[in-house]
Amino acid sequence: MFTVLRIRRDLVDAIVAHARRDHPDEACGVIAGPDDGSDRPERFIPMVNAARSPTFYEFDSGDLLKLYREMAANDETPVVIYHSHTATEAYPSRTDIKLAQEPFAHYVLVSTRDADEHEFRSYRIVDGVVTEEPVEVVESYMFANTGSDDVPDA
Ligand SMILES: [Zn+2]
Repeated sequence: MFTVLRIRRDLVDAIVAHARRDHPDEACGVIAGPDDGSDRPERFIPMVNAARSPTFYEFDSGDLLKLYREMAANDETPVVIYHSHTATEAYPSRTDIKLAQEPFAHYVLVSTRDADEHEFRSYRIVDGVVTEEPVEVVESYMFANTGSDDVPDA
């Protein structure tokens, strides 16, 4: 079981920008990564919230099918599944928990309820059990596993 979300800063920025753009509706999307156990989010895929709702999100079923076919063809997996909350904290709702079907994904929640600051949090959701995990933002994955502190800022 992975207990940390390690994610590049540009991907965090892309998620937050998408959430801000769709506010006050919820925004949603996926970050795919290689299906090799590396747990590395790489390809940012903003999705349409088919519900176009400020309190609910739903992937369009056709888009989702297309995405899963594409990921299968690329040997990718949905490493991150994100959506935004626009009036409440960045914590999975009861509906989010019920609909979570990827035990190996990092469920990222962004809250845009504050116009100036955002919350960015990550969870595992397995069998209805929510576990928050730390988020480690890195400039590059190249040095992510060395544990050294002398990595230069990009
Ligand atoms: Zn939600």
